[in-house]
Amino acid sequence: MKKTTFITEGKWYKGNTHMHTTRSDGKRTPEEAIEIYKNLGYDFLVMSDHNLYFNNNKFDSNKFLILSGIEFNTNDRQNPHRTHHITALKKYTEKDEFTDDQRFEWPFWDDEFGYQVTNKLIENVNAHDNFTILAHPNWSCSYPEELLGLQNFNAIEVWNNECEAVSTTGNGEYYYDYLLKKGRRVLAIASDDVHSYNDRAIGGYIVVKAAQFTKESLAASIISGSYYSSTGPEIHQFYIEDNVVHAKGSDCESIRLVFHYRGKTFYGNKNESINEISYNLNGNERYVRCEFIDHHGKKAWSNPIYLD
Ligand SMILES: [Zn+2]
Ligand SMILES: [Zn+2]
Repeated sequence: MKKTTFITEGKWYKGNTHMHTTRSDGKRTPEEAIEIYKNLGYDFLVMSDHNLYFNNNKFDSNKFLILSGIEFNTNDRQNPHRTHHITALKKYTEKDEFTDDQRFEWPFWDDEFGYQVTNKLIENVNAHDNFTILAHPNWSCSYPEELLGLQNFNAIEVWNNECEAVSTTGNGEYYYDYLLKKGRRVLAIASDDVHSYNDRAIGGYIVVKAAQFTKESLAASIISGSYYSSTGPEIHQFYIEDNVVHAKGSDCESIRLVFHYRGKTFYGNKNESINEISYNLNGNERYVRCEFIDHHGKKAWSNPIYLD
């Protein structure tokens, strides 16, 4: 049986799930931000301003869609560096939802890890028709093992572009594999978290394979993991068939498979590029995800395929 993360029939749509505008602390109005992303070839955005839900169709066109969303945060009262940020995007599946411009408080926690406060928040956000993403764990100064106590979030930011550009805290790969190795089933997300809109802020995105260009279809594909995350390279195919994993994408310097136990790196011959690999699994991998890294160090991440 063929196992893959991507739906069979559909087209690819590029989008950013994490951004800020003048609705919170971003430097551009929603209209300006949308224009910037449109001109960069994006197809959709999730409007995810801090603690202010967006649930509106007023910026949509037949070429560009704005999915509803928000970014929530909870904070350690004693230590301003320690925080949990959760971005959310509307699933378009239920009637019970947050309203447009609904504003939320920032809850504080007084215990060591804030589990009670943050889990209660995630539960409430999930119950209002949202897909939840644990944002920038590295910037939030989270300990990898701390994340095990946070429940029911659907994805984790494997890459946050502005956190990396501003404070070298954009890389969430270790947290992602830590959760997968502990048996948690989470998806990966690369995002911008753009506030400044300067040259280095934009560059982390997802490319979604969706049946139709509608918010419902895009959200359904994100929820099911039918997308890849990237800062540049493309992943066109990623599947396992007859115990062989196959990955195909754009020309890269290397392609990497990551397993529960170690992984496998593939290079082209001498200085040649590589865009396709296949590998016989030995049965101990538990999960497989792939990464494509181009000659400039730009990277793409698949979602995981589970072997059990
Ligand atoms: Zn944040
Ligand atoms: Zn943010």
